[in-house]
Amino acid sequence: MKIATIVGARPQFIKAATISRIIQEKSDIQEIIIHTGQHYDDNMSEVFFTELNIPRPHYNLGVGSSMHGKQTAKMLEGIEEILVKEKPDWIIVYGDTNSTVAGALAAAKLHIPIAHIEAGLRSYNRRMPEEINRIATDHISDVLFAPTQNALNILKQEGLAERSLFSGDVMYDSILYYKEISRSKVKLEDIADVQPDRYFLATIHRQENTDDIKRLQEIFLAFSEFDIPIIVPLHPRTKNILDDVAFRSNVKIISPVGYLEMVCLTSNCIKVFTDSGGLQKEAYFLKKPCITLREETEWIETLEGGWNFTVGADKQKILDKVHYCNYEPQKEYFGDGKAAEKIINYLLKK
Ligand code: UDP
Repeated sequence: MKIATIVGARPQFIKAATISRIIQEKSDIQEIIIHTGQHYDDNMSEVFFTELNIPRPHYNLGVGSSMHGKQTAKMLEGIEEILVKEKPDWIIVYGDTNSTVAGALAAAKLHIPIAHIEAGLRSYNRRMPEEINRIATDHISDVLFAPTQNALNILKQEGLAERSLFSGDVMYDSILYYKEISRSKVKLEDIADVQPDRYFLATIHRQENTDDIKRLQEIFLAFSEFDIPIIVPLHPRTKNILDDVAFRSNVKIISPVGYLEMVCLTSNCIKVFTDSGGLQKEAYFLKKPCITLREETEWIETLEGGWNFTVGADKQKILDKVHYCNYEPQKEYFGDGKAAEKIINYLLKK
């Protein structure tokens, strides 16, 4: 069986690492990796292939950054050409980026079956480009792997029950697999000048926070009021506009880090502040409280038991939740750590 995997953005490399590891254990699958080039800086792309032993992409379309339409169109053109040549039995797409929807659209028109991993997520905020990408991809894919029961229920409500199944979350598999590797290979002091359990961790890159300088300023004003350091591995999109934002020296900006470093930073911090989907979940998996810098979240399971709060970009709401510490035991919403195996076995049987 030949599978073409479409990746392009940071969270997809992390998910693909776990799926590719399982594929490599099966002698009867050949995987072709197509990198769209949506993320291209070394610390947003190359580092993941090296650290996580992801097979080198067979193709890199090098599309780079541009407006959504132009970027997606370039991907569509490039992916179509490769799929015509490679004739895979399946394509795998992940999550909700422009690379996801471009891959799915190209394959759907060529009648190549599409597996969507991390299907059924909804924020119900159609101003998010990711929401449009998710909805479109789910509705043109052939098999939808839902990471949680909530996601599966959403797919059922949208009339997609027959094509959907609960797999568990491959990012949960990833954390379980890489947690120990991170602990043995990476030292906190080599990443940032902080002590374990004496700092907060933040990431910010959602368009709603980076397109609106007032929101970004409000977030950084809140961070500046903390009496301990907050480490911010900064996404290139946010870095581009940071010159216009004021903050105090306890806010420590660093370059984006590799996954093993990020797992180390998350494991050792007190709390996470983020607008990232993936990091909200990793905070939950590592039992770190999260404060989400958005008005809503797709990962509603993490809100239970006080583990996550959505506060938007409201300084006072951010500050109000900093000292919250009344957490209830977590439930097992994200599967048993064997999502990748289930997904690949399913595709092999099909
Ligand atoms: N991440 C990383 N290095 C960083 C920041 C984040 O490896 O400097 C990882 C993080 O641990 C998570 C993933 O990137 O696994 C989340 O990706 P991102 O926030 O870019 O996208 P989202 O999950 O919001 O789609």
